[in-house]
Amino acid sequence: MYEKYVKILKDHTLKITSPRLEILKYLDEHHTHPNVEEIYSKLKKKHPSLSRTTVYNSLEILKKNRIVQSLTVSGSELRYDIDQELHHHFICTHCGEIFDIAIACPNMDRTIHGGHHVEEVQGYFKGICKNCQTKGKGRNNNG
Ligand SMILES: [Zn+2]
Ligand SMILES: [Zn+2]
Repeated sequence: MYEKYVKILKDHTLKITSPRLEILKYLDEHHTHPNVEEIYSKLKKKHPSLSRTTVYNSLEILKKNRIVQSLTVSGSELRYDIDQELHHHFICTHCGEIFDIAIACPNMDRTIHGGHHVEEVQGYFKGICKNCQTKGKGRNNNG
């Protein structure tokens, strides 16, 4: 079940380590743009010897190799995303969830035609997500 991730690491001539595999798997299964803390606390349950530093360093290596991308949405906090396709994000100011928005960026063509090679696009839309709007329509909910 880790074959897919082993292949990703091999393709980038990276050493195959269990934290790297676990992180890739986690990000692949959770498209919620988790931060280091979240990844660390989830993986730690399964791998008690794992350190926060290892998680952080592994993420940095994956990022340098463009296997994952990071977003700075709320201040300096980094959120990680395994989706390397260029895409925008919608951030709910109510629940803090981050959603992928697959829309063509109208500025992209102009950028490419200018001779530039685009590796990263970070567009943020903020507002109230669909889930929160639905909740808001009901009578006062207590949680
Ligand atoms: Zn929301
Ligand atoms: Zn994303």
